Amino acid sequence: MFDTEVLVVGAGPVGLTLAVDLGQRGVRCTLVERKDAPQFLPKMERCNARTMEIYRRMGLADRVRAAGLRADVPMDVYIVTALNQPPLVRHQYPSVADAKRAIDACSDGSMPLEPYQLISQYTLEPLLKKEAEALPSVTVRYGCEFESFTQDEHGVTVRLSSGEIRAKYLVGCDGGGSVVRKQLGIAMQGENLSELRQALYRCDELFDRIPIGPGPGHGRHYHVADERWRFLIMQDSTRHWTLHAAVDDDAEMARQFELTIGVPVKYEMLYVGKWRQNLLLADRYASGRVFLAGDAVHLVIPTGGLGMNSGVGDAIDLAWKLEATLRGWGGPNLLASYEIERRQVGERNVGASRYASLGRRKWRGLWRDLPELARVAEVEQRKSNEMIGAELGYRYAGSPVIGEEPGPAPEDDFRRYVPSTWPGARLPHVWLDGHVAMQDRVGPGYTLLRFADQDVSSLTKAFKAMGAPFAVLDRRDARARELYGFDLILLRPDLHVVWRGNRLADAPGNIHLLATGHLPGQKA
Ligand SMILES: Cc1cc2nc3c(=O)[nH]c(=O)nc-3n(C[C@H](O)[C@H](O)[C@H](O)COP(=O)(O)OP(=O)(O)OC[C@H]3O[C@@H](n4cnc5c(N)ncnc54)[C@H](O)[C@@H]3O)c2cc1C
Repeated sequence: MFDTEVLVVGAGPVGLTLAVDLGQRGVRCTLVERKDAPQFLPKMERCNARTMEIYRRMGLADRVRAAGLRADVPMDVYIVTALNQPPLVRHQYPSVADAKRAIDACSDGSMPLEPYQLISQYTLEPLLKKEAEALPSVTVRYGCEFESFTQDEHGVTVRLSSGEIRAKYLVGCDGGGSVVRKQLGIAMQGENLSELRQALYRCDELFDRIPIGPGPGHGRHYHVADERWRFLIMQDSTRHWTLHAAVDDDAEMARQFELTIGVPVKYEMLYVGKWRQNLLLADRYASGRVFLAGDAVHLVIPTGGLGMNSGVGDAIDLAWKLEATLRGWGGPNLLASYEIERRQVGERNVGASRYASLGRRKWRGLWRDLPELARVAEVEQRKSNEMIGAELGYRYAGSPVIGEEPGPAPEDDFRRYVPSTWPGARLPHVWLDGHVAMQDRVGPGYTLLRFADQDVSSLTKAFKAMGAPFAVLDRRDARARELYGFDLILLRPDLHVVWRGNRLADAPGNIHLLATGHLPGQKA
């Protein structure tokens, strides 16, 4: 009666990540995409540290790195008048190799397990598509458009361009113009800002010949101090480049590229298109058996790289909750918690993106006074590139499946990350004895980290009786215990903390019911 358990609409990075996560969990899933094949079009180019931790947990991080930018290239950000002129501002950011060395040496939990990875969306999508196609429970159908749906108590009937399909759940990962969202009647609120043109160029010689000086001129972003908001971005191959500019016609983008480089180079302009800067958040993330994720519910200015990275967070929050509900051990609060948990992150990241883009606006407005521009940009431009708090420090507050703790919760700061095991937070990365990452030791289900001898068999029995995956992970590492602050930490499959304490007797007696979404009376 059901053709599939979950129908995912849209094979952008978010729909693809969701399909891979569902497939790895053995959930039967069909992914439909209206395009005939992944396209060679520029969009995102940076998976942030949290996304790379997520891909590591899915066993994909090494493949993503192998397909992306080489590890030795720094991520410096420049503000210039042209590439052949001395830069007005240079902000240095480490290469992946340097960042990995820093992570290896860090023992205070303040760094992620994985650094960022620069990989262009047109490289990432085919990679994820291949992963999804290799999973036996996933069906991937390109050239197949979602048209409409109706839902009832038991499932969703979906009309596709190829015919009808019946699924237990539908997830719209169909991007900013989401038809699924529109059919649910869910509106987006916020700001619709300026329109820019973006072009993609192939230029084989530029990377080795970047004329900027002094010092090694390699960077990722080159902002041009002008009235056109020119912004040159290196893509993962180092042979492809994108330029954004506020110009009136496509052909002008060739001249703007030449002006930006400042010296003659051989190049080919492969694509020009328009795109709009938005700061928008959907009123709802779900209705009944239909869920929304990624750009379908939040649109940010790419400043800060919180677009697809927020969407990957949505995908992995939803995947295990769908699995739990389909397998029968997940209670009603679990799927209801998706919107509560992820919409607050969407709201926070739209705010972070607004804050970063206001910083950029401040210095951009000073293009007639370059010394002043450089002075202001020295501070303001950093807001776009230093968002580690937004990447790692988000915490699910007010969730019906997270324990409540008295006292003041840690402050929310998207510029700074302070490691915390406060309920709802992501488990901070820490190296265990033998330089093994704690995150790598945590299994796929619920995990109770136990740092001291005590009997927790009642909790093991309780999870087992529900059929929910649960394991106890015994560690005696002093550094991890000190950082985490408690002898017992209960984690969910997505590495977020449900509860922490020193004695199981201090936990709510029904903690297993809370964690699995069965506790009556929780606001959901
Ligand atoms: C210039 C630029 C730079 C960016 N840089 C970054 C960055 O560095 N880091 C970052 O995190 N984000 C960045 N972003 C944002 C990022 O590209 C988006 O957030 C990301 O693509 C969202 O992924 P998604 O899967 O939600 O949606 P999309 O990538 O939009 O994918 C949606 C998919 O759904 C398909 N679809 C739509 N309707 C239907 C239908 N009816 N039936 C079937 N299929 C359908 C579409 O064809 C598409 O493939 C950037 C964006 C732009 C424009």
